[in-house]
Amino acid sequence: MESIKYKRIMLKISGEALAGENGYGIDFQVAKRIAEEIKEIVQMGIEVGAVVGGGNIWRGRQGEGMDRTTADYMGMLATCINAMALQDSLESIGVYTRVQTAIEMKQIAEPFIRRRAMRHLEKGRVVIFGAGTGNPYFSTDTTAALRAAEIEADLILLAKKVDGVYDKDPKKYSDAIKFDNVTYMDVLEKGLQVMDSTATSLCMDNNIPILVFGLDTPGNIKRALSGEKIGTLVTK
Ligand code: UDP
Repeated sequence: MESIKYKRIMLKISGEALAGENGYGIDFQVAKRIAEEIKEIVQMGIEVGAVVGGGNIWRGRQGEGMDRTTADYMGMLATCINAMALQDSLESIGVYTRVQTAIEMKQIAEPFIRRRAMRHLEKGRVVIFGAGTGNPYFSTDTTAALRAAEIEADLILLAKKVDGVYDKDPKKYSDAIKFDNVTYMDVLEKGLQVMDSTATSLCMDNNIPILVFGLDTPGNIKRALSGEKIGTLVTK
């Protein structure tokens, strides 16, 4: 039997990851593949919470000249569209899910209620957290950190386009070096491209490890949770 190191995890999927090659909107082939990967870890007995970003549809900072708060609320709504797409992809392959949103929209999702989320997780349902934290000026990385702390997740799996944390942008520099391990302080002090500083600080203060890995390689979620050395682990 595979040894399971993690009982409950928080998976953060950026909006960009859902867009696939298009760079915009939702690529349902990609959503389906991510759903298949989530199914594999649910079948391993791991409880899965998921936070989806919204960058494939709208990011607050795109709203040049707009009221920032309004632009951010639009971003939060974008995450709900993605949450529903992921829910649909998961349910189409027989994975039980619930979407809980930080902004009430009770015709389409449950409101975020921590104890209820915990119960769903215990029952093996994947809980997808939509609408970010419900507050402007925050990100979905911070949402992942916050919800991970609230649901007492053992690890945040941060799915990215790149396969880990590098000393400089690997797309621009061929000599960029990938780290196996970094500390929260390295991320903050060296400005490494992992999470924004609010999200990183929240993980640091609550001692939640973050595994940064590439979602483009199929099977990586299971690999990461089966103890294979992939990506970069951010810890104390
Ligand atoms: N957002 C927000 N508060 C939150 C989470 C998200 O205001 O708690 C808004 C913000 O405008 C952000 C957008 O939602 O730009 C989409 O989220 P994010 O940029 O984190 O998505 P990702 O980059 O992961 O796709």
